[in-house]
Amino acid sequence: MVNKGEKLKLDLHTHIWEASSFETPSIDTAYKVINQCKKIGIDGIAITDHDHAHPDLLKISFEYYKIFTKHFPNEIVVFPGREIELHMKHDYFQTYEVGEFMLPNGKLFRNYCHPGHPSQQIEINHIQSIEVNNSIHNWHINKNQVYELADKHNLILTEVSDAHDINDIGKNYIEIPLEDLLSSGIDLNKLQIQGWENHRSI
Ligand SMILES: [Zn+2]
Repeated sequence: MVNKGEKLKLDLHTHIWEASSFETPSIDTAYKVINQCKKIGIDGIAITDHDHAHPDLLKISFEYYKIFTKHFPNEIVVFPGREIELHMKHDYFQTYEVGEFMLPNGKLFRNYCHPGHPSQQIEINHIQSIEVNNSIHNWHINKNQVYELADKHNLILTEVSDAHDINDIGKNYIEIPLEDLLSSGIDLNKLQIQGWENHRSI
């Protein structure tokens, strides 16, 4: 159980489906993920596999969510989601990646992934957090620029593993009260985000 105001250690960028070599979501993989979280000492993860890896990636992610909640209730916090590539408004050929996942209150949370990659330009559009530390992408994150953007757009700073291997989950994480995420998410009834039409709650 999560008490109000209690800080959680969360890794908000993981690829657990890819880490299982794209196998059908299984209790076995979920168990391994939980073991890794316990071993490294984090409270939960967002599942953000690449959207282009499956025609209905969110279905996979929500299947995992169901396995975690049904077979391992209250072991870790899990937010089902995906990582998508977006085109910049001012220049279609510039792209950036966003991890988006559903919170327990049905709101959508969007994390700007590895700013500076692929595009060196940065566009903030319906974003709640931005990565300042990514285990595999730090070489192109301009931290001072990220701090300025976070300040300007009131973004939460995230530190993530971007794990593509189960043993890498939790290598980075942030400590944050769940309330802070819940209160900053996007209301999908007010803002249409493509792909979430059939996923309005968890
Ligand atoms: Zn990623």
